[in-house]
Amino acid sequence: MSDPWSRPDPLIVDRATELRDSADLDAATAIVVTEGRLLASAGRLVELPPAEHPEARLRVYLGRENGRDLIAIVPADPSFADGYDGIGGERLVGLRDLLQPFAAHGAEGLRDRELGSTAVALEAWHASHGHCARCGAATEPVKAGWVRRCPADGREHYPRVDPAVIVAIVDEADRLLLAHAAHWSPKRFSILAGYVEPGETFEQAVHREVWEESGIELTHVAYAGSQPWPFPASVMVGFTARTDATEASVDGEEITEARFVSREEIIALVADGEVVLAPHGSIARRLIESWFGGPITDPAPDERIDV
Ligand SMILES: [Zn+2]
Repeated sequence: MSDPWSRPDPLIVDRATELRDSADLDAATAIVVTEGRLLASAGRLVELPPAEHPEARLRVYLGRENGRDLIAIVPADPSFADGYDGIGGERLVGLRDLLQPFAAHGAEGLRDRELGSTAVALEAWHASHGHCARCGAATEPVKAGWVRRCPADGREHYPRVDPAVIVAIVDEADRLLLAHAAHWSPKRFSILAGYVEPGETFEQAVHREVWEESGIELTHVAYAGSQPWPFPASVMVGFTARTDATEASVDGEEITEARFVSREEIIALVADGEVVLAPHGSIARRLIESWFGGPITDPAPDERIDV
């Protein structure tokens, strides 16, 4: 298919890992990330030439694109955002709120999502891994932000990625299981997801999570794609599955409601505002629309901020 959002994603930006020791970060083009928010304008990342780099608390080498180096800068000045109050359109926007705008920009948006996800993930990792897990000494970033080294014992610490599984389950009538989690906004419904535990395969995690959250047993569990999910450090591993069950039995704590819906029902629920699905650009939305057989239109205007 020609739509880059509907196929397994090829690597878009060359990470050029061999250049992490040698790239000239001062001469790179920079995107800006601070506290999980990215400098964006009109649904695209803003790119700053070297002369416009803010003073950096942290710089991460993102790779090479069209003969130029790309980096992410975490500004040293916490009031950096004050200089971007929307005049000219540039402002700091959370990655979650950018998923849908990115999705509207096709291949360029997919490239921005890749760079933005990397920048947000690395910023969060540095912010929470400032000390050596072995000896407790303060660590320092090396390898252009891809490693933290302990000066006391020389140990190198690498960025963490915590896998989580997400699964689109259909029953024998080809209805999709939609669930509501207790901590979501009231009308948010999506497919089931959960973290992989140590010692599990992804498929085993799918079976366990679905059983715990809905009391449903699965057949035909099959891999369907993945998406970085740096909130703060995950990758979502997507699956499809079938079940003989016709209804769910939720725990009432983590998941408060779950039921199978037909295509006609989901269209009506979304149109009436009774159900708010995950945003376009998320793997949850992609799996739901893959089952549905095409895009599902959200009622306008939606709750999300205009970016
Ligand atoms: Zn140490």
